Amino acid sequence: MRGLRILGLKVDVDTRRGMEEGVPSLLETLAAHGVPATFFLSFGPDNSGKAICQLLRNPRFLGKMLRTNAPGLYGFRTALYGTLLPAPRIASALPSLCRTIEEKGHEVEFHAWDHRTWQDALPGKGAGWIREWFARGVASYEECLGHRPRAFGAPAWLLTEEAVGVLREFPWEYLSCTRASAPFFLEGTGLVEVPSDLPCLEEVGGKRGVPRILAALDSGGMHVLPVHAEAEGGIWRNAFVEILDGARDLGYGIFPLSRIASLFRAASPPSRRFRSGLLPGRAVPCAI
Ligand SMILES: [Zn+2]
Repeated sequence: MRGLRILGLKVDVDTRRGMEEGVPSLLETLAAHGVPATFFLSFGPDNSGKAICQLLRNPRFLGKMLRTNAPGLYGFRTALYGTLLPAPRIASALPSLCRTIEEKGHEVEFHAWDHRTWQDALPGKGAGWIREWFARGVASYEECLGHRPRAFGAPAWLLTEEAVGVLREFPWEYLSCTRASAPFFLEGTGLVEVPSDLPCLEEVGGKRGVPRILAALDSGGMHVLPVHAEAEGGIWRNAFVEILDGARDLGYGIFPLSRIASLFRAASPPSRRFRSGLLPGRAVPCAI
């Protein structure tokens, strides 16, 4: 694969504001560059306000919120959803926008039913709760899009062995659940994992971290950039444009994740279990 320069854009949509405001902004940016992305949508309630409880439990999280200007990123209303304000639905409240993403030539995949609860409480949840979470989310996806999702991207790149056991009951074509540095077959699922191997803007301190992301692209290969609709479709829109311009100047072609999954599968990567690790710039460990 020497000389190959392929980049995938994995866009996660975690909040109502990310869906309503971030997605249309990203669609404009992507259209201006003529490049495709793969959107992983959260369909159920936006319980972002419950992150306040996380903040009280984990000082690293508070540091991250301050470093990344979280109120500017997510907005104050978002910070109250699921606590003082009722939790609004995310993608399932905006089915025509879900279909617009596909009509504009992008892919739509499944990220979450209740993103916040997976992120905060998954390790304590058994197979029954996880199965219900997938069943509601996938049914909602099918209602909005009229077909089945091909891929699952775990919220906050968080997995447990219970979650892996349940997710294989659903007919995915590939997974994008980890921050591993190279693709692998996730043991027990037979599915290829397309990891987000590059750092996201949030982890490199926003706009000033763009050169670090471009430096990671310098030596070529196949990479996946994690993008958040709330950030790159909001206050970091210009930084995202800089990354797209920089990748083009480095000779990268931008492919949808389904094509990257096919290329990875054909390369027969090793089969292994996921591991857990704390990446630089992140508050909690994630699957690698
Ligand atoms: Zn997410």
